[in-house]
Amino acid sequence: MNETLKKAAEIIKLKKEYLEILARPQRIVQVNFPVKMDSGEIRMFCGYRIQHSNARGPYKGGIRYHQDCDLAEVADLAFWMTLKCAVVGIPYGGGKGGVTVNPKTLSGQELERMTRAYTRAIADVIGPRKDIPAPDVYTDARVMSWIYDEYSRIIGKKTPAVVTGKPIKLGGSLGRDIATALGGVYVLEKIIKLLGWQRKKLSAAIQGFGNAGANMAELLSGRGFKILAVSDSQAAIVSKNLKEGLNVKSLIEFKKRTGSVKNFPGSQNVSQKELLCTTPADILVPAALGGLITQDDAHKIKAKIILELANGPLKEGVDEILDKRGVSVIPDILANAGGVTVSYFEWLQNIKNQRWSKEKVLAELKKIMMRATKDVWKIKQKYRTDMRLAAYILAIQRVTKKIKI
Ligand code: NAD
Repeated sequence: MNETLKKAAEIIKLKKEYLEILARPQRIVQVNFPVKMDSGEIRMFCGYRIQHSNARGPYKGGIRYHQDCDLAEVADLAFWMTLKCAVVGIPYGGGKGGVTVNPKTLSGQELERMTRAYTRAIADVIGPRKDIPAPDVYTDARVMSWIYDEYSRIIGKKTPAVVTGKPIKLGGSLGRDIATALGGVYVLEKIIKLLGWQRKKLSAAIQGFGNAGANMAELLSGRGFKILAVSDSQAAIVSKNLKEGLNVKSLIEFKKRTGSVKNFPGSQNVSQKELLCTTPADILVPAALGGLITQDDAHKIKAKIILELANGPLKEGVDEILDKRGVSVIPDILANAGGVTVSYFEWLQNIKNQRWSKEKVLAELKKIMMRATKDVWKIKQKYRTDMRLAAYILAIQRVTKKIKI
């Protein structure tokens, strides 16, 4: 059982039966399905959909394609989705899906056939009022459009609300592409104020340069933050000019052209560890995979705030070390909840057959993220905890209120 869940339950003296319920997913679906490869060969794939809780509404959560994706990882991610939706107060439960595959080894057509086969395999358990998938690591709007199409074909009716993160022309929401990062920016700016930091030109280092990380770099740099270092799966780079930081717009174009941030002009290639531990940035933003920050790193990290855009980036025991060193960790279930919040807006638009302007989407996102940050901060003050425990307490209180036994 998750240690933070146990601690949070102790603090609020949660009844044992509720703890037992939260500690287990309601449903685990594992599917094995065949896909025809371009060579004509048939290959078997293994996928998951884990539905942790629907106490507060339909299950909601992304789909991940990664070679290390397994049942335990998807179960953790589904649990965090339940908590995340509760922290931001949207009427969803938590779920997550994944396929164990390195998508970089598949052609575009193989990826499409695999996505359609996975959709057929889980079609019985998903649906607009049941369980609504979305993008996660190495899945994107294109993958979502295949899921939408395949599911609609199966049930014989166009059903855009079965999945979020779709392309705009297929019923996606304006603002969904930047929602995770922008939600993180709103939370970060509020926490900086609450911590009483004097406004100066703050700097950041970002681990991971995909949807969450690259958008974060662009948004922060547009708001006057210096981006000193970034990394992706192939390389980590630090700006040679620490006074100015990296030119993020050029870096995004460079990565599009070359496939990596490696060898970006004006930067120096360093190790992933150096990015985490020796970059003199005020803020560290993990925006890649889970479990990449170890206890050893925690003793060395120079940043004073860690904003978890990634899910579960800190290994067990890291929180305690950082807390002792006075580093504030803004937990994933608050920091990256902007993505699911705008997914909820997309689903609402699909169900009500509406189209919201980008301004409306971003204004509503800001309202929700600010309210959630204040709610977490209030609990942190009340129970004298760190932000992660506070967010857990808030979420557990909201979820257990809706559990029917
Ligand atoms: P993505 O696939 O778009 O990007 C992942 C990035 O991480 C890529 O740049 C990749 O090169 C990099 N990466 C992979 N392994 C790495 C390593 N070992 N070291 C450094 N970089 C590495 O995925 P994403 O959607 O940006 O998701 C990133 C994280 O954010 C995940 O933990 C995901 O669960 C979380 N998240 C994403 C969303 C969303 O809306 N996209 C919402 C909430 C949380």
